[in-house]
Amino acid sequence: THFGFQTVKASEKHKKVYEVFENVANKYDLMNDAMSMGIHRFWKDYFMLSLSPTDNTKLLDVAGGTGDISFRFLNYVKNENLKNCHVTVLDINPHMLDVGQQRSKALKHDPNMIAWKEGNAEQLDLEDDSFDAYTIAFGIRNCTYIDKVLSEAYRVLKPGGRFMCMEFSHVHYPYFQWLYDKYSFQVVPVMGQILAGDWNSYQYLVESIRQFPTQENFKLMIEEAGFRSNNPFEEEDVDDETFLRNSR
Ligand code: SAM
Repeated sequence: THFGFQTVKASEKHKKVYEVFENVANKYDLMNDAMSMGIHRFWKDYFMLSLSPTDNTKLLDVAGGTGDISFRFLNYVKNENLKNCHVTVLDINPHMLDVGQQRSKALKHDPNMIAWKEGNAEQLDLEDDSFDAYTIAFGIRNCTYIDKVLSEAYRVLKPGGRFMCMEFSHVHYPYFQWLYDKYSFQVVPVMGQILAGDWNSYQYLVESIRQFPTQENFKLMIEEAGFRSNNPFEEEDVDDETFLRNSR
């Protein structure tokens, strides 16, 4: 491929991913709107509605980047007048966090309700059993060892805590697959080049989706880490499930 990402070894992925987000940090929010035609905003709103925080929710937003999920959390808390809530935005890339902090200042968030932390999802420098909810949006496919990310999520969540992941995965319908392939391989890198002057990073983003496990396999990985599905119905939709950390 153009970027050669399919042949990149696990040991090199970490460095490549770091470079990609260092390169795109300043244009990241603009590009998200352009590539998804603004739709990512609705997905993120829906994600936060699915989380539906309550009083005393302590959230860890991993691979939180420029803060989109955390800001929705803070808005939700404000609108619902919830008490004693807090979010920690964790990301491996300080450039993404810098952009997030500037946005947060501009939006006049209460600094006592949000903390920014540089860290690796695969090895969290955080205590066991310390969060009520864990979110990771469009982040886990960028990590080298998904199993480590999941076991760390399990470790830092309190018993009964919620694991929420939003990620691109595989398309089920052949015609849509054709359209999706055309768009992702032919349109996205071109937009990356035109809007952000960076073809390679956007080529990587497309390829990383291709390499992500199928919905079914990802669900098995989440369960192997110890989480259990919170879906009360037998006919669960594997595309939209909630997972809880087991009580001890
Ligand atoms: N969650 C944000 C959102 O939805 O807009 C940002 C998603 S962005 C596509 C992916 C983020 O994952 C980047 O900010 C990147 O730095 C971060 N990331 C990649 N590998 C990571 C790792 N091992 N640990 C923590 N963050 C990581």
